[in-house]
Amino acid sequence: MSEPGRTSRPLIKKTLTLDDYVAGIRSGDRVVLSRAITLIESTRPDHRDLAAALLERCLPFAGQSVRIGITGSPGVGKSSFIESFGLHVLSQGHRLAVLAVDPSSKLSKGSILGDKTRMPQLSLQENAFIRPSPAGDSLGGVARQTRETIVLCEAAGFDVIVVETVGVGQSETAVRSMVDFFLLLLLPGAGDELQGIKRGIVEMADLLAVNKADGDRLTLARRAKAEYQLALHLFPPKKSQWSPKVSLCSALNGYGISDIWQEVLLYRQQTMQNGYWPHQRSEQLRAWLYEEIEQQLRQLFFESPAIQAAMPGIEASVVEGRLSSYKAAAELLTLLIGSLSSKEPH
Ligand code: GDP
Repeated sequence: MSEPGRTSRPLIKKTLTLDDYVAGIRSGDRVVLSRAITLIESTRPDHRDLAAALLERCLPFAGQSVRIGITGSPGVGKSSFIESFGLHVLSQGHRLAVLAVDPSSKLSKGSILGDKTRMPQLSLQENAFIRPSPAGDSLGGVARQTRETIVLCEAAGFDVIVVETVGVGQSETAVRSMVDFFLLLLLPGAGDELQGIKRGIVEMADLLAVNKADGDRLTLARRAKAEYQLALHLFPPKKSQWSPKVSLCSALNGYGISDIWQEVLLYRQQTMQNGYWPHQRSEQLRAWLYEEIEQQLRQLFFESPAIQAAMPGIEASVVEGRLSSYKAAAELLTLLIGSLSSKEPH
C-alpha cells in the first residue's frame, strides 16, 4: 500500500506553516505528524493558536479509524501484545498508530508507555506510528492532547489507532472515553488477579484477554478464562448490546492474536448495525465539549489579572470566616465579567 508523498523527502524546514503541516499530514509524512503532535502538546499561546487552526483543518479527514483502548497492570504484556497485535493488523493492510495515556510519565521522568523501544519490531514498520504519552500536569490535559493526536493521526491516514494505558487512577476512564473498543489484558491466575483489578475497569471492557497463555501457564490461563467468564455474567448488559467475551492469547507466540482482531471487527460490524458505534462517537464529542468549556472557563478565571489581584484578600476573608465561600465566588465571578466587558472594543 503506497501513499502519495510518503517516499518524498521529509520537510526539514525550521518553521512549518499551517499549510505545510496540513500537506505533510495529509501525505502521511510521519516526521511532519510528529512535529504537529509536538505543537499540540505545547503550552505556548501562539502554538496553541496554530494547533487549533491545524485541528480545524484536519477534522474533515478524521473519524474514519477504529480506535482501540488497551489496559492492564504493568507486566501483563501490554507492549508485547501491541507489538504482536500491531504486526498482525499491518499484515491485513492497515496503517496503525500507537498512542499512550500515562499521567504518571512526568513523575517517572520520561514515558513508560508508548515508548518505541518497547515495541522494537513495530517501530521499524513504515505503516506504524508510535508516540509516547504526553507529559502533562493533569490527566485532563494529557487526555485532551491524546484526543487531538488521534485526529491528526486519522488525517494522516492511520486507520487503526491503539491507545495504551496502565491500570492506575482514572486513566482508564479517560481512555475509555476516546475509543470505540476497550480491551483489558489479564494474567493467568484468576482469583487474586480479579481482586487486583478494579471492578469498574472490567465493566468498561469490551473484551478480556488472558495473555501469556503459553507453556506451563496455558492450563492456568484456561482456568482464568472460565473464572472471568463467570464473573462477567454478574455485570448488567451493555448499552452497546455487545456481550464481552474472554479470550486467550500469547503475545510471545502469537496464539489468539488474530482472533482478537476478529473480535474488534465483529464489534464494529454489530455496533454499526445497531447504531451504537456512531452514537458512542457523538456522546464522546458531546462530553469533550463540556469538559473543554470547563477547562477554558477555569483558565480564563485563574489567569485573569483582576482575579489574581483580588484573590488573596477574598481568600483571607473566607478563611477567617468573614465571608461565605458562596458569596466570595459570586463576587469574583462578577469581577471577572466586569473586567472582561471593560476589555471589549467599543
Ligand atoms: P507491560 O508492562 O504490560 O507492557 O508488559 P511487557 O510487554 O513489557 O511484558 C512483561 C514481561 O512479560 C516481559 O518479560 C515479556 O517478555 C513477558 N511477556 C509478555 N507477553 C508474554 C506472553 O504472551 N507470554 C509470555 N510467556 N511472556 C510474555
